[in-house]
Parts: sequence; structure tokens; C-alpha cells
Amino acid sequence: MTLIASHRGGSLEAPENSPTSFRHTAGLAVEQVEFDIHPTADGQIVVIHDATLERTTTGSGPVAARTLAELRAVTIKGTAADRIMTLPEVIELFRPTGIGLRMEVKSDEEHQPYPGLLEHALRLLDAAGMRGRTVVTSFLAPIVAEAVQAPGLLGRIWLVAPVVMDDAGLDGVVAVAEAHAIRHVGIRANRLDGRVLAHLRAAGLGVGAWAVNDADAVRRMLDLGVEVFTTDVPTMALVLRESRNKPAS
Ligand code: FE
Repeated sequence: MTLIASHRGGSLEAPENSPTSFRHTAGLAVEQVEFDIHPTADGQIVVIHDATLERTTTGSGPVAARTLAELRAVTIKGTAADRIMTLPEVIELFRPTGIGLRMEVKSDEEHQPYPGLLEHALRLLDAAGMRGRTVVTSFLAPIVAEAVQAPGLLGRIWLVAPVVMDDAGLDGVVAVAEAHAIRHVGIRANRLDGRVLAHLRAAGLGVGAWAVNDADAVRRMLDLGVEVFTTDVPTMALVLRESRNKPAS
């Protein structure tokens, strides 16, 4: 069965990476919740997509330049009073559910990895006994390689940006994965078809999709039988998956 991950808590159904979106997702029959992490200036980890505050909050400037107290003072746009969550808070929200964590390790404003971020996040997962329920993802192959070296994770997925596919080609993508001992890639849904899937699978890679955000894309990914996809419309995706699992009457 193709697994469904609620992307940023289902960002077309609720404001992304917010308490509201995560509570929404916690009530869904999805297998995973996707979220994004950045470090704070005072040694915490927060859950937010961008390296800067402007797009999704009332704040401004780089996330990593702010203390947790400063980050807590801003409101998440589209909500009445939602505050940015810490990684331990998101872990605790999902721990009692059957939902797995799909944690995207982000990079800084210059698209450089934050030193030690994954290692720190793993310690927090371990403190809650959640490492084995966590898939680590990143657009940066070296970060995924670090996750490959970390034992006990549920999975590690290299998110392949379309520009990387254009520049490197499929053989280049396979070569990068092999060089980093990466076994699973995530391809943007609009770049994934039967030919691409067959090529990657023939190279021994597991294949998932991301940005699966309308009914046509959901149906296409279910038809292709990808292992997993992230979607901003998890409720719709669940209905579509359920409808094809029903025996024809
Ligand atoms: Fe993400």
C-alpha cells in the first residue's frame, strides 16, 4: 500500500507547521506527518519550513538568529494565536498516535546545513523513544548520508529537487544516491512517471513522491504504486486511497 504523509500537517487544509495543522493531522488515518526543523539561537529546535520568519509568521529575520522566547512571541499566519512549536512538542503530540514522523532537516538561508542539527534532533527523538518511528528527509544528500549512518531510524529519504534531475539526469541521481549509500529517493510528483520510476527502481532505489496536491496527482501516484507520498490535502488523499481499496460491487 502507498503510504500517505500529511505535508507540514496538511498545508492546504490548515496553516502549515502549526499546532492547528498537527492536531488536524493527528486525527487522520495517515501513516506519517511531515514537518521541517531549524535550530534556534539558544540551542533549541523549532518546527517551521522557511529559514526566515516572514512568509508564515508575524515575525521577521532568520529563525536561527532568534531565541526560542523570541520565536514564541510571533504568531503563525492564518491562525488566531498559534505559536511555533518545538521539536519535542511535535514529538509528544504524535507519540500517542500511530502516526510516524517524517522529519525534514532544513538548511540555513544560504542553503548550507546547520552543523549538528540532525544529531541534536536524534537525541530529542531518543528521549521520547521515537527514533524508530521517524523517517529523516532532506534535499541535501550529505544530510541524508548522515541519517544513513545513524542506526535505528524508520527511513531516510533524499528529496531530489527538479533542478538536480535536470542537471544530473536520472543516472546522475542514481550515482549521487549510491555515493551516499542512500536507498530511497523522493521525486516531485510532476516529474515522476512510469519511466522515471522504473529507472530508479532498477537501480535498487525505493521511490516516493512529494507535492502530490490535487486529486489527479494523488490518483497518478496511487496508480504508479509509489512507496509513499507527501500531500497538502491528506483528507482527500485518504478518501481516494480508500475508494480504490474497496472491492467493486
Ligand atoms: Fe518539508
